[in-house]
Amino acid sequence: MRILITGAAGFLGSHLCDRLLADGHKVIGMDNFVTGSRDNIAHLASNENFSFFKHDVSNYIYIPGKVDAVMHFASPASPNPKSPVGYFNLPIQTMKAGALGTHHTLGVAKENKAKYLLASTSEIYGDPLVHPQTEDYAGNVDPVGERAVYDEAKRFAESLTMAYHRAHDVHTHIVRIFNTYGPRMDLQDGRALPNFLKQALLGQPLTVFGDGGQSRSFCYVDDLIEGIVRLLLSEEHMPVNIGNPDEMTILQFAEAINEITGNKAGVTFMSEERSTRDPQRRQPDITRARTILGWEPACSLEDGIRNTIPYFKEKLGL
Ligand code: NAD
Ligand code: UDP
Repeated sequence: MRILITGAAGFLGSHLCDRLLADGHKVIGMDNFVTGSRDNIAHLASNENFSFFKHDVSNYIYIPGKVDAVMHFASPASPNPKSPVGYFNLPIQTMKAGALGTHHTLGVAKENKAKYLLASTSEIYGDPLVHPQTEDYAGNVDPVGERAVYDEAKRFAESLTMAYHRAHDVHTHIVRIFNTYGPRMDLQDGRALPNFLKQALLGQPLTVFGDGGQSRSFCYVDDLIEGIVRLLLSEEHMPVNIGNPDEMTILQFAEAINEITGNKAGVTFMSEERSTRDPQRRQPDITRARTILGWEPACSLEDGIRNTIPYFKEKLGL
């Protein structure tokens, strides 16, 4: 297939490029580098099956030649209010990437009679009142809350994707991605794993926001990409959760990283740093992915962190 990937210079987009090229596909990457980096795709520059367009998906997209699949990953993704690349500080860009970017990429898919895959998120469940989260749970999102620019953009993107499927018969897929980590995460984007691993490798205390009692479930990037590729090749049009159901509190997560890295500096609690609307609990129910895709994560937290350490050490000059 000849596949357009938006957000190709980002953490997940660049891994997706690598995987699809390795599977023998041709990949067209697109990115405006608002939160991503050229470094993430520099190794693909000489690959004759890879081409790249620097372009903002909020603007009309023209791709010369036939496209067989479109995968829309372009969007700021970090919720950290202090991060310059977090969606708090890119509110309009975030809404435009989710709304206009989804419209334009769906247009490319419709025009080409191509498959379409939307990168959605567990954030569409908001601060969930159902636990673990099943795909039929409609969520608990404040449309004017602190995270709304991201959550509502993604919810709109899902609705528009289903509208194109129902009205135009586009072969669409929606993946609801839960917290994922691995090499090529931006060390400065303020998410839990980059902050914690950077701090641990520098021998500093890990900054646990609030009391650390809020939970997440962290998935290693290779597992996530495997699930996404299976979904792209499937006949499933309804949303599918892809994530690791191994739920832990953020304090447990921090302690695990200190243990794996041998960091003796412990944790420091920063109650004032926890944003309002920070979900209290998050865990995917992956029954649908297991049943339809035969997928479940294979990588343990310890192995995933160990695989990620060399990248962080290189970036930190250690
Ligand atoms: P990332 O910031 O590393 O990658 C996003 C990429 O999109 C960046 O390279 C950025 O420059 C690009 N981009 C943003 N707006 C753009 C625009 N208007 N035009 C062109 N390019 C644009 O983030 P990520 O973690 O790789 O996330 C990728 C996708 O996966 C996002 O859609 C995000 O919502 C979704 N997601 C990620 C996670 C996770 O845990 N990493 C969880 C849920 C959903
Ligand atoms: N968090 C933390 N310390 C940090 C960064 C994040 O305790 O240095 C917490 C954050 O408050 C949230 C959880 O870790 O409860 C996961 O945050 P992240 O930004 O990775 O993503 P989210 O799941 O909130 O989208």
